[in-house]
Amino acid sequence: MDEFLRRTWVQVDLDAIRHNYEEIRRAVNPAAGMMAVVKADGYGHGAVYVARELADCGADWFAVSNIEEAVELRRAGLPQPVLILGYTPPQLAGELARHRISQTVFSTSYGEALSKGAVEAGVAVNIHIKIDTGMSRLGFFCQQEDCAASIDEAAQVCTLPGLVPEGIFTHFAVSDEGEEGEAFTQHQFEQFCRAVDALREKGIRFRYRHCCNSAGVLCYPQMNLDLVRPGIILYGLAPSGKCKDVLSLRPAMELKSVISMVKEIGPAATVSYGRTYAAQNPMRVATVPVGYADGYPRLASSKTRALVAGKPAKVVGRVCMDQLMLDVTGIAEAREGMTVTMFGRDGEAFLPIEELSDAVGTIPYETVCLIGKRVPRVYVKNGKVIGVADYLKAGD
Ligand SMILES: *Cc1c(COP(=O)(O)O)cnc(C)c1O
Repeated sequence: MDEFLRRTWVQVDLDAIRHNYEEIRRAVNPAAGMMAVVKADGYGHGAVYVARELADCGADWFAVSNIEEAVELRRAGLPQPVLILGYTPPQLAGELARHRISQTVFSTSYGEALSKGAVEAGVAVNIHIKIDTGMSRLGFFCQQEDCAASIDEAAQVCTLPGLVPEGIFTHFAVSDEGEEGEAFTQHQFEQFCRAVDALREKGIRFRYRHCCNSAGVLCYPQMNLDLVRPGIILYGLAPSGKCKDVLSLRPAMELKSVISMVKEIGPAATVSYGRTYAAQNPMRVATVPVGYADGYPRLASSKTRALVAGKPAKVVGRVCMDQLMLDVTGIAEAREGMTVTMFGRDGEAFLPIEELSDAVGTIPYETVCLIGKRVPRVYVKNGKVIGVADYLKAGD
């Protein structure tokens, strides 16, 4: 690995991504296609490298959150169909069509605006109708028994010029909540099926019906339909602690850094801003060049651990913008230049990202997304580094 990388970096194991894909593929109904969710730069892993690996595995579709993310996949030469799950300014209809990107349509006003944009650009845009069965986020509102008015609206939108109905979908709110979420998820699925049926009665058919996120894939195989939309499990992380452990997943991301300095501090010396941590006895402290600007949260101050020489070392004192300190008193091997694992594997030892996420009251989804863009992503395949994405050097 290049020496310039040896400050703080993320290691992404593309073999783990492949393994996870194959595990999911095995569990999903063979008739259902795989729409791999690579929004938010592939959950912080790097969308292009991840999508290339998944395309090679046979992913049928990609899903992203916005048009920039979709165009990034096209620029990388990926030919698979791409769905934008969120909002695209309607005046970009021409761009959508030019790049063969499918767009979610979630309301009458948005459908009308997108239709206008498409007509003005002289193009036809493929659309997926979003049905809101329980999130109250995007979508035609179909949460209650009688959703005839919303169905009429969705049907109307499907007939607008410049729009080509291709898919229809909904999104689950509690599919990751184990048994407590079952009744509501079933309700959402039924509302969705009812909407699809009602539209069919009006003569509107969709080639792709989809509703399963990762938790849906794990817990509700009977709801696979025509496409599944796994995100977090592709990266080897569980949607929550309450999901069935039906797949053997391998976390793809590790956060690594190095020890920049080791020092002995005397009793009563304090560590970092605010002097929140005071040594009780003489101790050894290692400084590590990773901080909240890299996405290692300040809320983790004095709450989490890292691995040094395969042994856990506590984060002591406040996490700074660019650095933090570890107690390496019990780790005789600790010395300057040694690799530190903030989460991930170090030899036989493994520190799950959940430990950090739990300590700061969040979920691994957020932890991986917040890893900063100044942290290079190093891609490993068959045990070898095959590429580096360095956002700060992208213009070189
Ligand atoms: C993010 C997202 C997904 C993937 O969710 P995971 O829980 O990561 O599997 C699926 N569908 C929609 C609409 C999403 O926004």
